Amino acid sequence: MAERIPEILQKKLSDRLSFYDDLGIRLFYRDRGSAALHDSDKALESPAIAHFSTPGLPKEGILPKPAGKPVLRVTAPVATPVSPKVASLPVAAGPSLFEAVDKIANDTLLKVRENLGECTRCKLHSTRHTIVFGDGNPKAQLVFVGEGPGADEDAQGLPFVGRAGKLLTQMIEAMGLQRKDVYICNVVKCRPPENRQPEEDEVSTCSPFLFRQIDVIAPKVIVCLGAVAAKTLLQTNRGISQFRGEWLEFRGRKLLATYHPAYLLRNPPAKSEVWKDLQKVMAVLGLKVKKS
Ligand code: SF4
Repeated sequence: MAERIPEILQKKLSDRLSFYDDLGIRLFYRDRGSAALHDSDKALESPAIAHFSTPGLPKEGILPKPAGKPVLRVTAPVATPVSPKVASLPVAAGPSLFEAVDKIANDTLLKVRENLGECTRCKLHSTRHTIVFGDGNPKAQLVFVGEGPGADEDAQGLPFVGRAGKLLTQMIEAMGLQRKDVYICNVVKCRPPENRQPEEDEVSTCSPFLFRQIDVIAPKVIVCLGAVAAKTLLQTNRGISQFRGEWLEFRGRKLLATYHPAYLLRNPPAKSEVWKDLQKVMAVLGLKVKKS
């Protein structure tokens, strides 16, 4: 005959689950039914969840024990226009741990940069020359997010200043804007050696700083340039071609993924697809397409 769980343990489990409810992360446990608390804590240590946690999040176990009713700093969601229609990728079953607990009140780009410091949090620090934080209008309506700095960016400390950067500048100007009107940044802030793609641990270590930058700037539209940026913000492993040009969202803000300018340098015919994507962005921002 199955043993009954002692009443005191049942109460502990119930208290802990209601604490998770308050944090907005109980969805992580919904398939676990009444699994033991020990298993639930293990779930928090899975790589998928660790990806969205930040160095500042305490571990207990993993989570702090509730001392009375926990108080959360959750920023109110930003209202988004109803049109055009925003789709969602079926990848996240609720707010990520990062979304639930990690928005920082009164944050500024200066604070984010100061917190980053002369960062050595991931192995990319050992080969970089300069941290490439981001550049542009701190109150931009439009933020471009790329993958990571290349050689020119690493040398100058500015994003998108090489050949691909020149093409991005042309794209921005074709939209009737200038670089100083928008904000440009990357998922990782140090150049990966040989321009390889940033690795998962590098992305998960550096991306919380990107999330803070986006929160502070509060743009109307985010354009992800390439698969790494799109996958990082959308928490998906789907190929970019499956959702390129569709309106999606990141924390209540409109997000559209398109090809990286470096890809366009290798595949010029794809420029017409990107131009169609940018025209959608222009429509949302109220920018007129020049007839010519
Ligand atoms: Fe730090 Fe980001 Fe550079 Fe890694 S890539 S060392 S996390 S700034």
